Amino acid sequence: MKVSKERRAAMRPRTRLVHAGRDPSEQFGFVNTPIYRGSTVLYPNTDSIFRRDNRFVYGTKGTPTTRSLEEAWSELAGAETTVLTPSGLAAIVVALMTAAGAGDHILVTDSVYRPTREFCDGVFARMGVETEYYDPLIGAGIERLMRPNTKVVFVEAPGSHSFEMQDIPAIAAVARARGACVIMDNTWATPIFFPPHERGVDIAIEAGTKYLSGHSDLLLGLTSANAAWADRLRATFDAMAPCAGPEDCFLALRGLRTMDLRLREAGRQGLAMAQWLAARPEVARVLHPALPDYAGHDIWKRDFSGSSGLFSVILKPASREAVSAMLDGLELFGLGFSWGGFESLVIPFDCRSYRTATVWNPGGPGLRFQIGLEDLADLQDDLDRGFARLRAAA
Ligand SMILES: *Cc1c(COP(=O)(O)O)cnc(C)c1O
Repeated sequence: MKVSKERRAAMRPRTRLVHAGRDPSEQFGFVNTPIYRGSTVLYPNTDSIFRRDNRFVYGTKGTPTTRSLEEAWSELAGAETTVLTPSGLAAIVVALMTAAGAGDHILVTDSVYRPTREFCDGVFARMGVETEYYDPLIGAGIERLMRPNTKVVFVEAPGSHSFEMQDIPAIAAVARARGACVIMDNTWATPIFFPPHERGVDIAIEAGTKYLSGHSDLLLGLTSANAAWADRLRATFDAMAPCAGPEDCFLALRGLRTMDLRLREAGRQGLAMAQWLAARPEVARVLHPALPDYAGHDIWKRDFSGSSGLFSVILKPASREAVSAMLDGLELFGLGFSWGGFESLVIPFDCRSYRTATVWNPGGPGLRFQIGLEDLADLQDDLDRGFARLRAAA
């Protein structure tokens, strides 16, 4: 049983998710590629050493386990190549180091994942890269910010707290015409709901920690590139060797097989919860791209084929104590960062403290929800009691 690459390319995504990156005939018939732990690879003779013609040359340059996941992800993302890092943030750093260096200017959306901002303002600034933040809703207006030395335009949609939807094809068209690399953090949608390279993205990042894992039990990053950037991404990765561990890659491959199912269920649950929250008197606004009255809904509908289980709400004005009373007493929702696991989470957030290009003033406290796989009615009962505490403390 082996599906040829050409044949798989013609298959629907769900079928490809089942078959991508594995070849039982190379694993004594076992269905999955096992965990290969290894640094040294032995060569059959000196000629082979000189030619470096082993399929695998050294642990940092790949093992059958990492190769399986790289190939599967490239196929899913429509990428030329993929490299694997020990965290999502490391995947972002590898992408940025691939495309920019001393003396360059980069444009980064003001809605970017906060640790990305910290890398740009800290290490990247120290290395001589100038970062300028831009209004996430700028669209083709990015043109006026482009300089001759602008090497990267970094996009992320939706923003993982603020949920602004960016017009990625419009931004990418301008950036590419000016020779800049379009880098996207695609963690929210994953390639299942947003095929990044088809939409103009050169280098795409996925925090595999989230939906690829699906179980809050591993850290992993994936950086994929189109044909134009593949060699440079691979060379940058090889020069630094920030390699992902074999157990984590194995677990990610396991997660990959059910990712479509989990993601669609998370999306369905998330949207139902968003609609329920939108009807609550304590809630001023729900920031969810799949809600028809949401500001970024048209872009989402045009470019994305689904939504995941992460969204935010803005509460009507309430004191910090009242919000704490609501959240601290929750029984089913954990208070924690990260998302994409089977369990529901909530965190309070406020973008005011770190935004620089745009003013964030939503008019009330922000809460970000990750909706897991629990029964929605139980989650709503938990929140119902939370809202009662909020009202009582107001
Ligand atoms: C979590 C996350 C990352 C980083 O992933 P880690 O594995 O936690 O380093 C990057 N981008 C987004 C949008 C994330 O949510």
